[in-house]
Amino acid sequence: MKVTKTCHDGVIMFVCPKCGGHKLEEVLINAHIETPITFQVEPSRTTGMRMIYGQTTCIEGDIERYQCSACGFTPSQEDGDPICDDEALEEWLNNPVGIEEQLDKD
Ligand SMILES: [Zn+2]
Repeated sequence: MKVTKTCHDGVIMFVCPKCGGHKLEEVLINAHIETPITFQVEPSRTTGMRMIYGQTTCIEGDIERYQCSACGFTPSQEDGDPICDDEALEEWLNNPVGIEEQLDKD
């Protein structure tokens, strides 16, 4: 089973074996995330100010798993544990082992 599709412009697209979705996302644990906050005067509020949140930046974190953002399908290693580093993910994309078993299980 193939889990990638190469587009004419050279971009390799993920193809979810479960739902056919194309968006793969990284799920982090122990992440250090920063969001800058600024304040603006707002007389209608009891505190007289309003907080404005800026762009959230992820400083660091550990990859817990990758998943399809549409259905949550998780690429797994042969032992069933989720893949959690980019090298293993690359390998899995080239040679996705155990997908049939995993789809049967779900
Ligand atoms: Zn999916």
